[in-house]
Amino acid sequence: MRRTQLFTKTLKNPPADEVAKNAQLLIRAGYVYKEMAGAYAYLPLGLRVLEKIKQIVREEMQAVNSDELIMTTLQNKDVWQASGRWDSEAVDVWFKSHLQDGTEVGFGWTHEEPIVEMLKNYVHSYKDLPISIYEFQTKLRNELRAKSGIMRGREFVMKDMYSFHATADDLAKYYDEVIEAYKRVYDRLGIGEDTYVTFASGGAFTKFSHEFQTITDAGEDVIYLHREKNIAVNEEVIDEAVKELGVSKDQLEVVKTAEVGNIFNFGTQKTDEMGLYYTDKDGKRASLHIGSYGIGITRVMGVIAEKMSDDKGLVWPENIAPYKVYLISIGQEGEKKAEELYAELIDRNIEVIYDDRPNARPGEKFADAELMGIPLRVTTSDRLGDEFEVLYRQSGETRQLTHEQLLAIL
Ligand code: ATP
Ligand code: MG
Repeated sequence: MRRTQLFTKTLKNPPADEVAKNAQLLIRAGYVYKEMAGAYAYLPLGLRVLEKIKQIVREEMQAVNSDELIMTTLQNKDVWQASGRWDSEAVDVWFKSHLQDGTEVGFGWTHEEPIVEMLKNYVHSYKDLPISIYEFQTKLRNELRAKSGIMRGREFVMKDMYSFHATADDLAKYYDEVIEAYKRVYDRLGIGEDTYVTFASGGAFTKFSHEFQTITDAGEDVIYLHREKNIAVNEEVIDEAVKELGVSKDQLEVVKTAEVGNIFNFGTQKTDEMGLYYTDKDGKRASLHIGSYGIGITRVMGVIAEKMSDDKGLVWPENIAPYKVYLISIGQEGEKKAEELYAELIDRNIEVIYDDRPNARPGEKFADAELMGIPLRVTTSDRLGDEFEVLYRQSGETRQLTHEQLLAIL
């Protein structure tokens, strides 16, 4: 991509009304555009990051044999009434509207109920099970507060997966597989070391659910943590959990975190509320066991922006950076060399953004490369001749490389 083709411009200062560091940086660098509090558009650079995060999640969901689909944003009131979750007393984040004929509709904030309802059409026998399905969906939630940038949106992208099993054991086994899949996701996203499987409040069937909590001061949650023993408990359930786990509260460190994922064992609760049954081997009607597994895709992007950034800007890990190389030329010879290298990198499928703006000073280009957080800045110049200067965004290390050496590191 040529920089002159990119319509976005970088900003020296964040907009005055934006308080969250993640959104300040992402707006300044041209990744997101704030439509209103809690609603952000993803611009070309931001969308590339979002899609890369989704692809990592997609690969790991496929690895646990889940299939992708997309449910609808418009929600049927009757379906939600069956489980008692249509009522705004039960769910305080509903956005609702009505059709021209007066029929009430809701906007999807999660999709357990519609998925269960849909499966009534497809699940009949034990032979149809297990089933695991997932989607990437823009959820709408009328959140009271939206001050955490893209970490808490009124409109945000979630990956939600649902699994359906004949027995509690089958569900428990799958649930554990998903925990491992989630760990791989957060490892690949570069936040694995700071992300803990955390005991959180459960539901009708299990005492606890599990949240994936990532340490960050920008988070809205508080957990009790034992790093060596790998014990993490949401403060909401700390008193019950310490009894259960046989640890004492004062052995645990109190840290601020953001919930980047949440998995939930519904047992047969939804089956019984909504009437989704199957016929077992003996021909008897039996209850289905259901698990629900979320990842906050846009929240994860915000958490990474918070944690992987410095006073110069963003610092993307290589596997989710929008481009691998930010190419800059100085002087006429440098420009010729840069044009050649640009064509060559495109040819080799190396993701490169070439700052070809004729009227921008080198200093501005250097600053933008850093603000955007592109992993490698490559400079050509008259002084460098046939060599290239490479700056690693993460370590700050600079190296002067020949053409061959440069291709070797890319
Ligand atoms: P929270 O406790 O942060 O409000 P939640 O428990 O309501 O979240 P879930 O319904 O379990 O969240 O949603 C699954 C995941 O979606 C969460 O783990 C979180 O990462 C993400 N998420 C939830 N609400 C938002 C939001 N308003 N903006 C961005 N991401 C969100
Ligand atoms: Mg939560």
